[in-house]
Amino acid sequence: MPSHPYFKKEVVLTSKHKKIDLIKPAFDISVGCNIFELPLDTDQLGTFSGDIARLDPPLETAIKKARLGMSLTGTPLGIASEGSIGPDPIVPFLHSDIEHLVFVDDENEIIISETFRSFDITLFTTTVSPKDDLNQFLQKADFPNHKLIVRPNRSDKSGSIKGIDDQQYLSEAIEKIAEISPDGLVVVESDLRAISSPSRQKNIEQVANLLALRISQLCPECKLPGWGCVGYEKGLTCSECGSENQLAIRQEILGCAKCEFTKSGKVIASVLSPANCDICNP
Ligand SMILES: [Zn+2]
Ligand SMILES: [Zn+2]
Repeated sequence: MPSHPYFKKEVVLTSKHKKIDLIKPAFDISVGCNIFELPLDTDQLGTFSGDIARLDPPLETAIKKARLGMSLTGTPLGIASEGSIGPDPIVPFLHSDIEHLVFVDDENEIIISETFRSFDITLFTTTVSPKDDLNQFLQKADFPNHKLIVRPNRSDKSGSIKGIDDQQYLSEAIEKIAEISPDGLVVVESDLRAISSPSRQKNIEQVANLLALRISQLCPECKLPGWGCVGYEKGLTCSECGSENQLAIRQEILGCAKCEFTKSGKVIASVLSPANCDICNP
């Protein structure tokens, strides 16, 4: 690890919601850089509760966040995270948490990123009036372990109370918000900010593990960090009928964050199972 280019180097983590405890440990183990946190209100780049519409895809937002902290602290190395939580883009009717983590290195002009997608995210919402019984909902939403947001029942989502982790405070928030809600109804929903959502915290730890691992690996050609899987070689032959499936994943392609050098990686499969064959199992 002392031979790693980032060993003992300062890296700024731009984060509003105390993500350092989730991200730093993985880097301490496999990279050895000194991550410090710059608490910064990055709401101008878009927030979770929807007060401000997000301007960019999450990865772009994370890069912007990292650069914000880098320019404010004069640090050439920066890290930032951004998550998308909601209906999964691929699997219908399921919610997922897609966590992005980026590492920006302005000295070497590279950006190294990882993404972790998880269906393990506590995400519930209900619309209530102050007299309604919330017990069932609170159990489902894992309250107060997972914190809640209360907001007026209207589309613009402004005027919300966040980070609620106590029954008394929740009742007061519901009554207060009901008074300013046009129809007297309030929306109670999971607070998905990292500080409020333990299930999300686990997913951020996972993406940090992936990114620290990728950064710990140096390119065999140019020796810069960020060596890892960049794609897959495809094409497998069915073990039963011998027909070829061009889209089936065969082997990892390893690549660099900077140069064009690639190498074949781990073999995922050497033959196509008949269960995945279009001829044997149409
Ligand atoms: Zn077949
Ligand atoms: Zn390289």
